[in-house]
Amino acid sequence: MECWHCERPAHATCKFCGRAVCKTHAQEKPYIIHSYRTTTGVYKAFVVAGAVWCGICTPQQDPVTLKDLE
Ligand SMILES: [Zn+2]
Ligand SMILES: [Zn+2]
Repeated sequence: MECWHCERPAHATCKFCGRAVCKTHAQEKPYIIHSYRTTTGVYKAFVVAGAVWCGICTPQQDPVTLKDLE
């Protein structure tokens, strides 16, 4: 697999869309593994900080604030 940006060998794939990227072009974004609601009605999420991101795609979910789920 080659980097989406520069066509050199890729080191990782974007966690969000699957594009391959090299170390130079890989960027980071928080990634939600799982979200849940506590017994007190607060929404929380397990987030991986620094997940590999290609820099091109635009994940739609808000990585931190969870609202309007009901
Ligand atoms: Zn590259
Ligand atoms: Zn991507």
